Amino acid sequence: ALKASTTIVVAGASGDLAKKKTFPALFGLYNNGFLPSDIRIIGYARTKMDPEEYHKRVTQYIKAPIPAMKKKLEEFLERCSYVSGQYDKDDGFEELEKELKKCEETYEDKKAPKNRVFYMALPPSVFTVVAANFKKHNYSEGGINRIIVEKPFGKDLESSREMQVDLKKEWKEEEIFRIDHYLGKEMVKNLLVLRFANVMLDASFNKNLISNVQITFKEPFGTEGRGGYFDEFGIIRDVMQNHLLQVLSILTMERPVSFSSEDIRDEKVKVLRYIPEIKFEDVLLGQYTASGDKPGYLDDETVPKGSICPTFASCVLHINSPRWEGVPFILKAGKALNEQKTEIRIQYKDVTQGIFKEITRNELVIRVQPGEAVYLKMNSKAPGLAMRTVPTEMDLTYKRRFSDLKIPEAYEALILDALNGDHSNFVRDDELDIAWKIFTPILHYIDEKKPRPHSYAYGSRGPEELEKFVQDKGGFVRSSANYTWPSTSVL
Ligand code: NAP
Ligand code: NAP
Repeated sequence: ALKASTTIVVAGASGDLAKKKTFPALFGLYNNGFLPSDIRIIGYARTKMDPEEYHKRVTQYIKAPIPAMKKKLEEFLERCSYVSGQYDKDDGFEELEKELKKCEETYEDKKAPKNRVFYMALPPSVFTVVAANFKKHNYSEGGINRIIVEKPFGKDLESSREMQVDLKKEWKEEEIFRIDHYLGKEMVKNLLVLRFANVMLDASFNKNLISNVQITFKEPFGTEGRGGYFDEFGIIRDVMQNHLLQVLSILTMERPVSFSSEDIRDEKVKVLRYIPEIKFEDVLLGQYTASGDKPGYLDDETVPKGSICPTFASCVLHINSPRWEGVPFILKAGKALNEQKTEIRIQYKDVTQGIFKEITRNELVIRVQPGEAVYLKMNSKAPGLAMRTVPTEMDLTYKRRFSDLKIPEAYEALILDALNGDHSNFVRDDELDIAWKIFTPILHYIDEKKPRPHSYAYGSRGPEELEKFVQDKGGFVRSSANYTWPSTSVL
């Protein structure tokens, strides 16, 4: 564990991620007493800023509505300094080293080893050179050193491997924390408990009882002027190959020997290795078009003309393990859709025919966001004198069940894990490699053959072809058409 005597360096502190996620998470941790009292945070980037301007920038997204929090924020800012420097020249890093030493002189325990955590909130183009310079100029001798890195980890298997090789020249795997922020989400962290602390659920997770599984990510907005970045990557790289595959591997892995990070990650890698590469016939691609006053993808001025970049994708995966053989896993991800949600929908098989007519299937839905919930759709007898079944639910809605508990932000959870040296919720090198292996063939096919995506209207559920795709490839039967969710009052 890494507690007192730690300085965090945020590289790219002038940027979007730093102000929206990193600093609010750091303050959230500080405010709740999770950071050591002598913590110091140094921002590093090229932009020249005086302390006042810097503080204004990093607090833009921090909410401190009550006086006690305002006071904490002032205290927090006293611990935040900034050094401006280039990414590829020695002198900036030498300045940073002076600032690090200055911070370290203020530690309460003068003799304690000096720990340094480097957080890379930088575009991938400068990322390896900065990592190398940190190692060369700012590595703490005698203390613990850690480096936190952000996606994208390359664009395909080859570029990801190159990046890993470069990074590993300077940093050991145990020092590297690769963030996939989905792993910090409360409901994703709950998957291990739901599965392995409930014999009933665990016993039903297999090909004998489960017909199909859908993992869905929906966003109700388009690229909205950030099309340049997105167009280079597309929805498969942006969401599916990383976030959704992470969720899939935790959902389907075998029970780990222990909850240690290496045991967990060993099982994740193992289940991913059972998944064959995806072929073009296993995917459905879409791109949104204008609808009402909402612009289409190609209307975004930052998007190259005539781009075939998919903003929606659905794909079917199979896990050829004894547990899951034959069960289709449908991943769906899209922008500019009808709603915001990330959910896992596990659909069970039909009840053996005979005594019931037109009975709906059981479905276990794990809603990751928004409104965390776990519900199991189950049939029940409609109360009354007649013998009639109705679809109902067993429901765990977080806001109702845990009304007095705050759900932490994913970045808070992950930064704290990294400070504590817990790798469980970070992506290991071999895990990253296998994830790219599954998706690289289809990504190369799209880059080379340029198949035209199906169009769908901004604000719809996706391309019209989706329903048939999910039925044909997944065997999904929509049991919810005659299901209504009654209670929304608490939400
Ligand atoms: P950003 O704002 O574009 O870049 C961060 C900082 O890096 C900038 O303030 C700029 O600082 C410097 N920079 C930008 N472009 C550069 C270039 N071409 N060459 C050298 N320096 C450059 O990026 P970000 O959105 O914060 O994202 C940082 C990393 O986190 C990226 O890898 C991104 O993919 C990842 N990420 C971001 C988000 C998000 O919500 N933004 C979410 C998940 C992951 P100076 O000019 O002051 O040096
Ligand atoms: P649902 O929104 O009806 O979706 C069920 C499935 O059917 C999804 O796979 C969905 O695909 C698909 N689908 C939706 N509309 C379709 C259409 N027009 N044609 C074909 N397929 C369609 O979900 P539900 O589980 O039955 O729940 C109904 C509502 O009750 C939801 O809003 C849910 O959040 C709410 N509910 C809340 C809780 C809780 O918070 N505790 C508990 C139970 C229910 P896509 O995902 O791709 O759209």
